[in-house]
Amino acid sequence: MPEPLAGARELVDDLVGDRAAEWDRNGLIPDDVLRTLAARGLLCAGVPETFGGLAASSAANGEFTAHVGSRCSSLRSVMTSQGMAAWTIQRLGSPQQHAQYLPKLAGGRLAAVAFSEPEAGSDLSAMTTTIEPDGDTVVVRGQKVWTTAAHYADLIVVVGRHGSGAAAVVVPVSTPGVTVRRVPRPSGCRAAGHADVHLDDVRLPATAVLGGGQPLMLLVTSALAYGRLSVAWGCVGILRACLDAARGHARVRRQFGKPLAEHQLVGRHLANLLTSEQIATRVCEHASRCWDSGSPDMVVAGVLAKQVSAVQAAQGAAAAVQVLGSAAAHEGHVVERAYRDAKLMELIEGSTEICQLILADHAVSMPA
Ligand code: FAD
Repeated sequence: MPEPLAGARELVDDLVGDRAAEWDRNGLIPDDVLRTLAARGLLCAGVPETFGGLAASSAANGEFTAHVGSRCSSLRSVMTSQGMAAWTIQRLGSPQQHAQYLPKLAGGRLAAVAFSEPEAGSDLSAMTTTIEPDGDTVVVRGQKVWTTAAHYADLIVVVGRHGSGAAAVVVPVSTPGVTVRRVPRPSGCRAAGHADVHLDDVRLPATAVLGGGQPLMLLVTSALAYGRLSVAWGCVGILRACLDAARGHARVRRQFGKPLAEHQLVGRHLANLLTSEQIATRVCEHASRCWDSGSPDMVVAGVLAKQVSAVQAAQGAAAAVQVLGSAAAHEGHVVERAYRDAKLMELIEGSTEICQLILADHAVSMPA
């Protein structure tokens, strides 16, 4: 059987080239880059073949995500959003909805997922967006913030209150009442198309509603499971880019008559970076194995992978800046971008603290 992601890394290398810093500076990934990858199904490679997808395993998609993350965290962020949108539709949608939406996402349309609101960040139970049934339609009202990739998206999967529970709804951005406003100059992943989304009496067919009536936090956990693992693999990519840049620099830059790498305190930074990369890789591999085998540990393993990898990436990127010195102080340097991008990974998809709270609950409830 042909490997579903054969040639994907080479395509990404061709498309990104040395342009990631320019995209970061301009805050934009060119449309043709996103559309080329989306049309090949590479932004949501786990979609089953029945729906035109590549049916990549989590392990294979994870390694691919790390590769994209090592080249451009903004592009990897768009990929995480697309994959999370597809996963949410797969998890919550009916067979008709799978057939309606998944081929679009695997075939070139771009999507984002909106949970966060001005007053609902870590505490998504404070969400106030409503998806109100009205005959054979629904009306969506609310405001979402920081939606990654919303600037590029054709469709936004919006999570909101629905009856006594919650639902997600697939909102085409061209629907009257939808306004997408870019977040100006974010500190990292600057080309990921983060935007606030205003939903003013947005009327959609009732068939656009996914998973109506579920408990809100159950729905959120299920949608975020994909996003957390994807971000975790993205952090592996950040660490690999930092390790490459730091060891390359330490070999050739000479101070006090010898290469930096031969100064033991610099060597310690390199050792720590390698350790971080290995820890993050192993914990992501474990989570992807759980995902691919359908293990009941899949959700917790994803939270663990996200928590560990984001912390390691933030620490590892800081160590890489230290090794490069002023070379990493130039805006757009791979390590300078990594430093800004990695810190944001500690905030999103459940911040480090929120992941720790989930892991603490899990630890307490584990059988003796
Ligand atoms: P707050 O919830 O206000 O938290 C601030 C700090 O307090 C954090 O350190 C947090 O960990 C800590 N804290 C909060 N509660 C507790 C607690 N109980 N115990 C201990 N510490 C606590 N949202 C989307 O819906 N879709 C997206 O695609 C998306 N992409 C994003 C991309 C980026 C780059 C960023 C920055 C944000 C994105 N978000 C997105 C929003 C993101 O999910 C939230 O920023 C995140 O959930 C944290 O919420 P907050 O920023 O409001 O921080």
